[in-house]
Amino acid sequence: MTQPQPITRRRFLQGASAAMASAAALPVVQQIAPAMRRLGARLPWYRQAQKQTYNVCDMCPWRCGVVATTVNGRVVKVDGNPKDPKSRGLLCARGQAGPSFVYDSDRLKQPMIRVGARGEGKFKNATWKEALDYTAEKMAKVRDQYGPEGMAFLGHTNGDFWFIDHFPQAFGSPNAAKASSAMCTSPREEAALITFGRSIGNHEPVDWDAARCLTLIGTHIGEDARNTPMQDLANARARGAKLIVVDPRFSSVAMKADYWLQIKPGTDTALLLAWANVLIAENLFDKAYLDKWANGFDELAKHVAGLTPEWAAAITDLPAELIRTTARVMGNARPQSVIVPGRHVIWYGNDTQRMRAVYIINALLGAYGREGGIYLSKTPYLEEYPHPPYAVVGGAGG
Ligand code: SF4
Repeated sequence: MTQPQPITRRRFLQGASAAMASAAALPVVQQIAPAMRRLGARLPWYRQAQKQTYNVCDMCPWRCGVVATTVNGRVVKVDGNPKDPKSRGLLCARGQAGPSFVYDSDRLKQPMIRVGARGEGKFKNATWKEALDYTAEKMAKVRDQYGPEGMAFLGHTNGDFWFIDHFPQAFGSPNAAKASSAMCTSPREEAALITFGRSIGNHEPVDWDAARCLTLIGTHIGEDARNTPMQDLANARARGAKLIVVDPRFSSVAMKADYWLQIKPGTDTALLLAWANVLIAENLFDKAYLDKWANGFDELAKHVAGLTPEWAAAITDLPAELIRTTARVMGNARPQSVIVPGRHVIWYGNDTQRMRAVYIINALLGAYGREGGIYLSKTPYLEEYPHPPYAVVGGAGG
C-alpha cells in the first residue's frame, strides 16, 4: 500500500495542475479532490460534500432554529435558520460555538457513578440501566426513611415539566421547584401578576418594532440576553428609537445608549419613584388610558408627590437633572415608550417591589397592551396531558 507523501508546494502544484488540465470542465471541487487525495491530503470540510439538516440550538433555553451543516456525519458548522422567527438566519456567539460543545472531549456522553469519596473526583462509567436502578434505589431509601416529601426535585428550563410536575406527584412529594426561575424571572412574573393580573412570560412581549423609546434597567442586552432581543434592539436603534440604560457598569448596551444612568447599586426603586413623580407632576402620563384601565392613580400620585428627582439624587448618586430629563424623554414618546421587563431580575431582595414600580411606570406611559409597548401575547390552547389525580398539591413548576 502506498504511504501518503509529505506535501511540498511543488508537488501540490504539480498534482493540482495535472488534475485541472485533464478535467477543466468539471467543478473546482471535483477537479482538485483527486489530486489532493493522491497526495494524501484531506480536503477542508468546505470543499467536501455537505448535508444540511434543521434543528434547534441547545446552547441556551431560547432555542433558536438552526441549520446544521455536516460532512461525513460530523457537524462542521451551524447557522441560523432564516425561516425561524427566533434566529431569523442569525445566531449569537454562544450558539455558533455549538459544534465545539458537541465534540468537546470532556462532554459527558453517558451516566457516571461516583466510586470514591465525595469530592475525590472518582467516577465509573455506567449504562443507563445501571444509573436508573442506582438512582431508584437511593430514592426508595429516602422515601422509606423520611417519607416521600424527604425528596426535593429541582428542574431547569423548557420541557422539564415531566420531571418537575408529574414525577414528584407520582413519587408523592410536594417539594419541586425551579431554582433557575427563582434566580431569574420569578419576581418579574409575580410582580406582573400583582400589577397586571397576568404574567409576562417568554419570549418577552416587547413591541420592539414600534417602540420609540426603550428603557433598560440592569438589562445587558448584548452580554447576557438572547439572540432575538439583541437583533430587535439593534433594529429599533437603527430605526431611531431612543435608548435609556440604567446600569452601574458601562455595559455594552450602555455604550449604545442616548442616556446612561450610572446608578448606585441597589437604589433603582428610588429612581423609578422619581420618574413616576416627574411623569405625574409634568402631566406626561396617559390619563385617558389610566381612567379606562387602572385603579389607584390618586393613591399613587399622593405617594410619589414628594419623591422628586432631588430626593432620588441623594439616594441614587444620579444628577437630579438627568432623572428629570430621562423621565421627559420617556413621557414624550408615550405610549410607544416602554421599560423592558428584562431577565435575571433577582438583585437585592426587594425585586418584586422594584418590578411593580417598573410596571406602574409602563402603565403611566400607557404602554401595557399597546403598540410600541408590551403586547398581550396569546399562546395556543393545548389540552393538559392526561394524568392520574395528583396525590399532593403544590408541585412547583414555573
Ligand atoms: S440565543 Fe444563542 S445560545 Fe440561545 S438558542 Fe439562540 S443561538 Fe443558541
